[in-house]
Amino acid sequence: MDQQVTEPATATQPSVHLLSDYAPIVGQPEIDELWMLARALPGRSVKMVNSTAVGGGVAEILNRVVPLFKEVGLAMQWDVITGGEAFFSVTKAFHNALHGMAYEDRPEWKEIFLATNEENRKRMSFGDSFVVIHDPQPLPLVAAREGKNNHWLWRCHIDLSQPNERVWNFLRPFVEKFDASFISSAAFTHPLAIPQFLVAPTIDPLAEKNRELEPEFIDSVLQRFGIDKRRPIVTQVSRFDRLKDPLGVIHAYKLVKRYVDCQLVLAGGGASDDPEGSLVFAEVQEAAKGDKDIFLLNLPPWSHLEVNALQRASTIVVQKSLREGFGLTVTEALWKKKPVVASAVGGILRQVLHKVTGMLVHSVEGCAYQIRYLLSNPQLAKRLGEAGHDHVKENFLITHTLKNYLVVFLLLEKHSH
Ligand code: UDP
Repeated sequence: MDQQVTEPATATQPSVHLLSDYAPIVGQPEIDELWMLARALPGRSVKMVNSTAVGGGVAEILNRVVPLFKEVGLAMQWDVITGGEAFFSVTKAFHNALHGMAYEDRPEWKEIFLATNEENRKRMSFGDSFVVIHDPQPLPLVAAREGKNNHWLWRCHIDLSQPNERVWNFLRPFVEKFDASFISSAAFTHPLAIPQFLVAPTIDPLAEKNRELEPEFIDSVLQRFGIDKRRPIVTQVSRFDRLKDPLGVIHAYKLVKRYVDCQLVLAGGGASDDPEGSLVFAEVQEAAKGDKDIFLLNLPPWSHLEVNALQRASTIVVQKSLREGFGLTVTEALWKKKPVVASAVGGILRQVLHKVTGMLVHSVEGCAYQIRYLLSNPQLAKRLGEAGHDHVKENFLITHTLKNYLVVFLLLEKHSH
């Protein structure tokens, strides 16, 4: 059953929070420390640049950190580069290639990539104290630093463990023009002329995506999509992207379904910088055809409350990515105390500690096995979920992101004088 959703659920709580609102979760000393760090950077400005305002983890994080940076006194601007279909086809091909997927070079690609970045460079300004470029799409903007005294950081959110060499060799010279890079896993380091900081992405526990929800609201979301709350619900929330392996999830569900009467929810949506979404969605529709217990939910980008409710309603959350920079969907599920079955790839390995905070898998069969195992061991499932929540609380909440940036900004300033 596939469903297109057009109406957003209504938010009953504010969507922007003050730093002090996080004290009950992370403790007052953590908040005090952030203010102390920020006070050491008076009057500084920061520009964040990425390639989409909605959809995907980067936009998710920027939406939440920008207001907090402003609150602690940094003048913060978030700019999104623009580009045509041809540009985003190239950047998606680079994205897949950097994840080690098949890559076929087209002679015009580099030119399109450079020309679109050049157009963006001309229309944007880069006079801020710190410029943070997210991911490979806007990398060539670093040309704008020439003749300036400011600091440039490259925040790489993707899994660089096995990049296609040709694409990496083309992009590396841009990377080496930055002062430093941020990566999400030690496995993504490469021999580079600049420092690489290991920094995990984080979630905002107070955001609509993650805050506590009334059981009635969760029920209403299930009802709206026709999902049966009395039978087990296995869910993967992800953009419809081959690297998220939605077909593998359906395959695993079908193996489980032979023994357990469960339902599968594949909730996803597009991102404006991902032109492959509708193609993959069509493949997924084909694979799900004829099974009333598979729910394909094509959600618009503002569906935070729906995603939250679906994650909370799930018996098990799956993330069967083939490659994964980090996987905020995993963090979100762990925060909600859900037992997670996830592929042993990329940044997921920092989150899912096998048999402690979830189950790691290496194949469709392994995924099916662990889903069945957890469905028949609710006590263990509960324990994993609780340990997962604590792990996120210790390591992957938004205040960590703030602190990481502030510390690195201070370091960059210190070392340039
Ligand atoms: N997401 C969403 N709606 C969707 C699919 C994903 O809101 O239909 C959110 C998801 O909750 C998470 C982010 O998008 O916050 C995805 O981040 P992740 O790091 O898991 O993957 P990415 O899309 O960045 O590869």
